[in-house]
Amino acid sequence: VTAHLHPTGWAEAADLLAADPRAVVLAGGTGLQPALTAAAVPPSALVHLDRIPGARTVREADGALTVGALVPVAEPALRRWWGDDGPAWFATPAVRRRATLVGDLVSAFGPRELGPMAVATGGTAEVWDARGPRLVPVAELLADGAGRGVVAAVTLRAPDRAAHHRISVRARLSRVELGLYAARGPGCGAAVSVGVGAPALPVAGLGDGLERADGTAALVDAVVGTASGAGAAPDAVALLAGLARRVHRELHSPPAGDVREVVA
Ligand SMILES: Cc1cc2nc3c(=O)[nH]c(=O)nc-3n(C[C@H](O)[C@H](O)[C@H](O)COP(=O)(O)OP(=O)(O)OC[C@H]3O[C@@H](n4cnc5c(N)ncnc54)[C@H](O)[C@@H]3O)c2cc1C
Repeated sequence: VTAHLHPTGWAEAADLLAADPRAVVLAGGTGLQPALTAAAVPPSALVHLDRIPGARTVREADGALTVGALVPVAEPALRRWWGDDGPAWFATPAVRRRATLVGDLVSAFGPRELGPMAVATGGTAEVWDARGPRLVPVAELLADGAGRGVVAAVTLRAPDRAAHHRISVRARLSRVELGLYAARGPGCGAAVSVGVGAPALPVAGLGDGLERADGTAALVDAVVGTASGAGAAPDAVALLAGLARRVHRELHSPPAGDVREVVA
């Protein structure tokens, strides 16, 4: 039988997780519930976050936004992070009202499509484990997970302008094969992820390319141009070359324009 635990603080939540290796955090449940339905062995306990003060808090200060662990991706304050296309590509309206930003970044079930957005806007996560709280760059969280920790909140730098470019089989309700996010503004930059659920990697060597870019297409062009052009950081070039191969291999009917754009 699965116990339902309702800690009233982050330290208590972290202690519950440390004490029981089969206890699992529950946020919006959109990733966890399907996994539980399919699981042969249920978790010993679900650690709910709903009674922890601040879990639903959204705070804007010093050019950054801090969103608590229960803030859904539909949160209006996140609008400028979605770029001009908005959040419609992410799931459905009902899922967006429950799925949390934090849960998306930390979920081992994937597909973690908000990774590039959080990495490109300098995201840091407040992670609590048995030793107490610590700040972890979102890029690290995506690569290594939260371990037995619980993520209390994520802080993102506010972009002046942002663009999210995705390549997937369909424009909506489809997993992203390539996610590219470019953000202009202090502490912002660009990041890409290649493959469903992959970590998001910052794109190095952009110089002031993003600052000069005006408009969504120009932001994306600045990143693609830098990452594939002369003098680009070698890891970005390798990443994009791998992406192009993967897109060709895995998509049923690759949109030729998109592929050319990436490898040009
Ligand atoms: C129909 C549908 C469509 C979807 N579409 C998309 C999509 O387009 N793009 C996309 O990226 N995802 C999509 N998802 C996946 C899912 O909705 C997201 O990953 C969501 O953001 C997860 O957040 P949640 O709050 O629901 O997490 P939950 O389901 O509650 O948890 C997911 C996992 O993360 C862990 N976790 C959650 N919060 C914390 C925390 N604060 N600290 C530590 N661990 C935590 C849980 O223990 C669990 O292992 C979709 C899911 C469904 C059902």
